[in-house]
Amino acid sequence: MIDQMTCKETFRRLDDFLDHQLSESECLLVQEHLEICAICAVEFKFEASIWSEVRAKLQHIIVPPNLREKVSLLLRETHCFEIDEE
Ligand SMILES: [Zn+2]
Repeated sequence: MIDQMTCKETFRRLDDFLDHQLSESECLLVQEHLEICAICAVEFKFEASIWSEVRAKLQHIIVPPNLREKVSLLLRETHCFEIDEE
């Protein structure tokens, strides 16, 4: 029995999921959540489309190491997906 991920947990892993940084089991959990949760599925599609654009544009440029986090933060702020930070 695999515990279902919460939206919050899924959202925290979304960037790493898109970046293929997750372990196989974490990847599966995210995928399972995206299949059952419309909110996260929409968010995932949104982030995935942004990321493919960003990647295409930055292909030939050296990307600062913290750019990914900055873009993620910006996306979260502008997209109003609320996460309760503990
Ligand atoms: Zn969700």
